[in-house]
Amino acid sequence: MLIEPFPEIEFIHPIVIELPGFGDLRTSNVYALGNGPITLIDTAPKFPGSFDLVEKQLHEAGFALADIDRIIITHGHIDHFGLAQRIRDAAGHPVECYLHPEDTWRASREYISEGMWSQEALDFIAMVDMPGAGVERMRRRSAFFKHFCDPLDDVSEMVEGDTFSGEGYHLQVIHTPGHTTGSCCLYEARNRVLFSGDHIIRHITPNPFTEIYRSRLRDPGYQSLKAYEDSLKKVEQLDIRYVYSGHGGPIDNLSAIIAGYRQHHAKRKDLIWRLLRDNPRPLYHLIDDIFPGIPESETFLAVSEIFVHLEILVNEGRAELADPGPPALYRTI
Ligand SMILES: [Zn+2]
Repeated sequence: MLIEPFPEIEFIHPIVIELPGFGDLRTSNVYALGNGPITLIDTAPKFPGSFDLVEKQLHEAGFALADIDRIIITHGHIDHFGLAQRIRDAAGHPVECYLHPEDTWRASREYISEGMWSQEALDFIAMVDMPGAGVERMRRRSAFFKHFCDPLDDVSEMVEGDTFSGEGYHLQVIHTPGHTTGSCCLYEARNRVLFSGDHIIRHITPNPFTEIYRSRLRDPGYQSLKAYEDSLKKVEQLDIRYVYSGHGGPIDNLSAIIAGYRQHHAKRKDLIWRLLRDNPRPLYHLIDDIFPGIPESETFLAVSEIFVHLEILVNEGRAELADPGPPALYRTI
């Protein structure tokens, strides 16, 4: 089986789309809530056949695309909003689409068609000392990714505390920045279900990406991993029986999963500290020691992860910027 089965909960219909070629994500999960007027949480990315798969599974749950009256996007990544516009067009009536204001730019036409590559990305690459071949690969990858979505032009904003209701569900928006600045979870208190987007995933530790497009952020001092850790504490305050994620199977042991994430972060942070202490070098050159055998296509994610951990080491007074470069050089304290 691709992922663990979902428990039966009335008015919550998981739609599971297999995701070949998106790293280790396994599936993209869409959730249809309600009965009759349907709310969708997230959509799959746009790839050949994905729209038909969503329609088919919606049909199996007893609904048609025309029943959808609202789409909530947990965050502005293409594997979550990619099909949203196509689904709206197919519904045959206006469908409101909600996204946190910190993430609307990620789904905008301007960003998708032009801005996925910027001077800020180049600055980051120079800072970590990524070699030319890696940069070229990244540029091609970012150009390729825009094929997996249609931009979202007409988006309604949702913020912390907003609620969405329908037959059998009442959702509360919990802003959980970290994976992206505008990431949100949706909490359904009656069934004690948290729809977590990519904030919590069962089979992998979610990646709080470093925000290289800093000029688009409202808080210039934003640090992805710190925000992520704060957002973990936020969901720990909720009474949760099941977590339904954007990828992979459902979770019924959230505290153990969170404990695992914390252990993983602490171990990685300590490893980065030791490597920098023993042999200070630009961040890109730590990859082989931290992620041995990593495919070339994943090196940007790897260096991003190193950087967000280093920010925490600096916060903790265990490392400091010795030379801004580029490339930047950090030393341990
Ligand atoms: Zn995702």
